[in-house]
Amino acid sequence: MNYNDITRYRNQRFRTGPESLKLEAGDMPPPETVTPTRHLRGGGNLYSRYKLAVIPGDGIGPEIVNQGLKVLDRVGQIYGHKFEYSTLLAGGCAIDVTGEPLPNETIEVCKKSDAVILGAVGGHKWDTLPGHLRPEKALLGLRGQLGLFANLRPAVIYKELIDACPLKPEIIGDSIDIMVVRELTGGIYFGERGRRMGKMGQEAFDTETYSVGEVERIARIAFEIANKRKKKVTSIDKANILESSRLWREVVTDVSKDYPAISLDHLYVDNAAMQLIRDPRQFDVIVTSNMFGDILSDEASMITGSIGMLPSASLGEDNFGLYEPIHGSAPDIAGQDKANPIATVLSIAMLLRYTLHLENEANAVENAVNKVLEEGYRTGDIMSPGKTLVGTTKMGELIVEKLSKI
Ligand code: NAD
Repeated sequence: MNYNDITRYRNQRFRTGPESLKLEAGDMPPPETVTPTRHLRGGGNLYSRYKLAVIPGDGIGPEIVNQGLKVLDRVGQIYGHKFEYSTLLAGGCAIDVTGEPLPNETIEVCKKSDAVILGAVGGHKWDTLPGHLRPEKALLGLRGQLGLFANLRPAVIYKELIDACPLKPEIIGDSIDIMVVRELTGGIYFGERGRRMGKMGQEAFDTETYSVGEVERIARIAFEIANKRKKKVTSIDKANILESSRLWREVVTDVSKDYPAISLDHLYVDNAAMQLIRDPRQFDVIVTSNMFGDILSDEASMITGSIGMLPSASLGEDNFGLYEPIHGSAPDIAGQDKANPIATVLSIAMLLRYTLHLENEANAVENAVNKVLEEGYRTGDIMSPGKTLVGTTKMGELIVEKLSKI
């Protein structure tokens, strides 16, 4: 993303609806005139208005986010919603313009929005900067500042893309559909740490700490999600060794009493890592701590075989969420119309489902993606013989064409 692009994005802020990517600079209302989210009457029709913060970021970020917004605009047209976008800087492009990876303005506007859509950040250009100035610092800053404590990563194998899965067909069966719910703001990544002198010289320590409140809120998210799926939660810990895991297990078991329709089982993390490969179809919703989730969600993604297809959500209180593809900024293919926008489009479906509670709209987006795949259209990363190769923009257009009301 160069400076002109950034200026253009900044100038697109606070635009509403399908024209959001076309308007010229200078004709948007100032931020304070933007109406907060609520049901409004417009032109005699009742419609819902939602405020979304959009962070295209670096590399392929702007290309894939553009496709996601096209899809969202079409959802708005079909279902009668208005989506207002505030386009914001974070990552390398923010460093170039403001000198810092996560400007205050970005955080403030995100906090006033219903949800955040993020492309990806990072790239070689900023790789040599000191740690606190790296683009990736924006990701940690957003999680912390926005109180995003639950990370949701679906690992889904699409029937059409089953060949991309590295597991044997008899293990995959018809499909795999797992939701990994990872605690995001506690545990060993945030616990006390340091260096000290020990019996064998200098030693280093990191501390895994979890409170009842932290475990309870992530467990509730997992049970609520399972309620809309196959009604099974697997909690993963290391309760045979770790005291923090024993508390984790107690609290998850307690919370499960409020969800009698959902079955709960517990697995040790080492066994879970094996089971994900041996029999992934046994899982519906997995709930686990920050570090175990970091590792297991990558393992679960890997068995789907296609990084360009996988969305994610990070949720905070009151349904607020940040939605982004799991992949990075892919500098090797940036600006070449080669990136697969489907992970971003599916992140938009998650936004519709988990923040806006628009289940039909979310299903409509997922159906449209399925139809495009069924008709044989593929971006380069998921291409196989006999299929039709398309670029980023065309893939976005095809999904928009296939969208219809359900
Ligand atoms: P990456 O995910 O960007 O790319 C890995 C490989 O997958 C590349 O070959 C890339 O071309 C391909 N790929 C990724 N997304 C694709 C898509 N949508 N369509 C087609 N192909 C796709 O990981 P990386 O190369 O390790 O990292 C590149 C940069 O992204 C680094 O600066 C890294 O720090 C950053 N990063 C950012 C995030 C984020 O913003 N959430 C996450 C991971 C990495």
